Amino acid sequence: MIGHRMPECVDLFASIQAKIRQVFYTSSRVYINASSGTGLQEAAVRNCVNKKVLNCVNGAFADRWRQVTEANGKANELLSVPWGQPITPELVVAHLASGEFDAVTIVHNETSTGVTSPIQEIAAAIRALPNGQEIMILVDSVSGLSGARLEFDNWDLDVALTSSQKAFALPAGLAFCAVSDRALARAQTVPHRGYYFDFLDLEKYLLRNQTPATPAISLMYALDQQLSDMLAEGMENRFARHLAMRDRTLAWARRHGFQPYATPGYESPTVTCVDNSINIDIAALNKYLRSQGMIISNGYGKLKGLNFRIAHMGDTQMSDLETLLAAMDDFLAQNQP
Ligand SMILES: *Cc1c(COP(=O)(O)O)cnc(C)c1O
Repeated sequence: MIGHRMPECVDLFASIQAKIRQVFYTSSRVYINASSGTGLQEAAVRNCVNKKVLNCVNGAFADRWRQVTEANGKANELLSVPWGQPITPELVVAHLASGEFDAVTIVHNETSTGVTSPIQEIAAAIRALPNGQEIMILVDSVSGLSGARLEFDNWDLDVALTSSQKAFALPAGLAFCAVSDRALARAQTVPHRGYYFDFLDLEKYLLRNQTPATPAISLMYALDQQLSDMLAEGMENRFARHLAMRDRTLAWARRHGFQPYATPGYESPTVTCVDNSINIDIAALNKYLRSQGMIISNGYGKLKGLNFRIAHMGDTQMSDLETLLAAMDDFLAQNQP
């Protein structure tokens, strides 16, 4: 293991930084943290809020960000839509009209429901408000980024965060967030940003290609390689691969009578959630899949048994998906509900 203040580690950080900015579509900065994505949900509200947060909630992970906001003592209000639906620009703008908010939290790709919210349109609508430049647009794209399109600079976002173990297809233990100049300027005005996730401290070290505390160095080697692989594939090709796998999964589900859970037009490119409309035994299905080295996910939390989710993210190829769907076909043929 190299030491985290050694020149080798500085070089590794610099190599990662050049590539990860392309994946985030930003020329600003991407902080690398030894934590999971939830840590950066905390960082975002800790660094970017003086007044009040609008927590947009359409699923379990969006609701976690509301809990994180409250646990950090930030004033907040809830914009809640039924699970399975996206957050829309109209709803967000209507809630922001009072002018008392200085930040919004939104999940790009809600993993509990398989719904993608239109972040680009939401951000454009927020920026068009009279106080649009004062509102920090904080986006969780833990299961989206690198599989579902997110363009940090073009979409004019303030924080976009993700973790290593979902769409990046890496071992768990690292989290990444792009941060705008506007968010850094905000952080300078916010007292009690905490210690471990202080953007100003992270920035100070990033400028020397380091992190304030010891990073997960072994995972950074994996990240460096994975970023090279992503850029070799090409981001556009990567997005297209995910969309093709989504469309294939949705077609498979419809053919078997499983109704897609997401509002039409907002189905996630990285995870498909379908209603268990024909009432199959999801646990038995998973037992069968496991025996062949595969697994899908039951419905999240309150949706367990009611729907199920098929991940098609990261390094998953269409051929992997075909293998999975064929196994599910076999199970359904043998186990008519
Ligand atoms: C998994 C997930 C999280 C939590 O991320 P961790 O890395 O487990 O902390 C947050 N948001 C979304 C959308 C997720 O899918």
